[in-house]
Amino acid sequence: LDYQLGLVPYSRTTLVNKIKAQLSDHRFQHVLRVEQTAIDLAEHYGADVERASIAGLVHDYAKQRPDAEYRQLIQQEKFDPDLLNYGNGIWHGVVGAYLIEKELQIHDAAILNAVRRHTIGAPEMTTLDQILFVADFIEPGRDFPGVEAAREAADESLAAGVRYEVANTLQFLLARQQKIYPKTIATYNAWVAK
Ligand code: GDP
Ligand code: FE
Ligand code: FE
Ligand code: FE
Repeated sequence: LDYQLGLVPYSRTTLVNKIKAQLSDHRFQHVLRVEQTAIDLAEHYGADVERASIAGLVHDYAKQRPDAEYRQLIQQEKFDPDLLNYGNGIWHGVVGAYLIEKELQIHDAAILNAVRRHTIGAPEMTTLDQILFVADFIEPGRDFPGVEAAREAADESLAAGVRYEVANTLQFLLARQQKIYPKTIATYNAWVAK
C-alpha cells in the first residue's frame, strides 16, 4: 500500500524507516502490529484505512525520548504543567504528537488527535481515535490477562472495545497504586456507562 491522500509528504517506506530509527526492534515490531490491527479495524468498521495506517505507524514515535527532553518541551511549549507530575506513559502521546508534527511533517489533525488520545483516551473519541486506542491494546503481540476478552469486545463494537480497555487499564493502575492522570478518569466516566 502506498499513500494517496497527501497526509505524509513522502512514501510509506520512508515513514517506516524514520520510525524504525527512533525505536528498539521490540517497540518497532509492536508499531507494525498496531498498524496492521488498525487497518483491519478500519476495514471492518468502515473508516479511513490510510489514516489508520499512518496513526498506527506514528503512535509511539516519541516513546523512547529521554524524560529530560519531555520536561523541557512541556515547559518551553507551555503544555499543561500538571503533565510534569506524570511520566513517559502519558507524555509520549500528548507531547509526542507535537514531535510527530514537527519532525515528520504530518499535520493532519485527525491523526495527531488519535495519537494524543491513544494512551488516556477522551470522553469524546472519533472513530479513528477509537481504532488506534483499541488496536494498541489488542494487537496480536499483546499477552495480558483479559486480552482475549478485549479482542472479543472489539469484535462486537469499537465502543465495547474502548469500554473494556478503559475499565481494564484503570483496574491495572489502581492495583499497582499508580497515579491516575485526571483525563484517564474522565475517559473512564464517559465510557463506562455509554
Ligand atoms: P504502549 O505505549 O504501546 O506501551 O501503550 P500505551 O500508550 O497505551 O500505554 C503507556 C503506559 O501508560 C501504560 O503502561 C499504561 O498503563 C500507562 N497509563 C495509562 N493511563 C495512565 C494513567 O492515568 N496514569 C499512569 N500513571 N499511567 C497510565
Ligand atoms: Fe503508546
Ligand atoms: Fe493504549
Ligand atoms: Fe503502542
